Amino acid sequence: MNAYRFRRIAVKVGSNVLTRKDGTLDTTRMSALTAQLAVLHQAGIEVILVSSGAVASGRNELKTERKLDAVSARQLFSSIGQVKLINHYYQFFREYGITCGQVLTTKENFSTRRHYLNQQHCMKVMLENGIIPIVNENDTISVTELMFTDNDELSGLIATMMDAEALIILSNIDGIYNGNPSSPGVSVIREIGPQREDLSRYISTEKSQFGRGGMLTKCRIASKVADEGIEVIVANGKRDNILLDLLSPEKEVLATRFLPAPHVMSQMKKWIAHSEGFAKGELYINDCAYTALLSSKATSLLPVGVTRVEGEFERNDIVRIMDPKGEAIGVGRIAYDSDKARQVIGHKGGRALIHYDYLYLD
Ligand code: GLU
Repeated sequence: MNAYRFRRIAVKVGSNVLTRKDGTLDTTRMSALTAQLAVLHQAGIEVILVSSGAVASGRNELKTERKLDAVSARQLFSSIGQVKLINHYYQFFREYGITCGQVLTTKENFSTRRHYLNQQHCMKVMLENGIIPIVNENDTISVTELMFTDNDELSGLIATMMDAEALIILSNIDGIYNGNPSSPGVSVIREIGPQREDLSRYISTEKSQFGRGGMLTKCRIASKVADEGIEVIVANGKRDNILLDLLSPEKEVLATRFLPAPHVMSQMKKWIAHSEGFAKGELYINDCAYTALLSSKATSLLPVGVTRVEGEFERNDIVRIMDPKGEAIGVGRIAYDSDKARQVIGHKGGRALIHYDYLYLD
């Protein structure tokens, strides 16, 4: 084991870290972060970088007089900005003799198990060959309904998919505050344990200046990823030497750590946990099934516990599970197509609709 605790990490750098106040790309910051990533890489840590900043740097590059709608602007700016961004990374990493590669993805690439495994394979090959993958959303082709909420969501998916031991989310604040950061007496929460309280009461819903994300999504993603057994650290990417300080066991650094759940979830469950957005239908369950699923025992969802099936789906698609009040409580990979599911529900016996290994409850 190296001196930095981890063998494989994902690092997400937000647009606000990479841009100056005037919106220009902060190449000094990029160079400093690259230098730290190079140290980690050379120490034997496999690093996956999720970098925002394409839209922000493209916006600044192009001085257009034309009025653009939001989607066109994002598509146009990212097409220019991504080239600029990756070129800088390429040059900076080259100074350390390190090669980086670009992975542009969309939400759809996480929607089927086949796509998911393809993508995972590509990044595994990169790591095996000593290449640092630099991931961003393919903003030029992703449109509103099919977009990630922001790159925090993307980085959570990537960390999970690649079995990273830690995900470090760098933005322009020191961590998650227990109130409005500008109010007196408010401080950074240093540690959030696996028994997570509801953090939403602390958190402002303000969006960041250049990125899409906000604190609330950051917290939601961080908790979910930590529940899957991955440590998540939210820290200030504008602080000098932040990455090396965070990972060095001797340093005390201001940041919020979401402690990982003690058991690492299986790869299949991790994929299912992030598949809510791809659900093709709903299964409404009765009180008995609800109680059984929520008990501490590993329980599959049987046909007898389901009262209604909504939607059209194929076998192995993702479906939502709805409690007796009609609230979504989780997702699972279904063992029947929708016609067959409608035939078997309410009947005793028969194969589980959703096996425990393919079931994820919120
Ligand atoms: N993919 C966007 C970009 O590179 C950033 C999305 C976000 O703000 O998280 O500009």
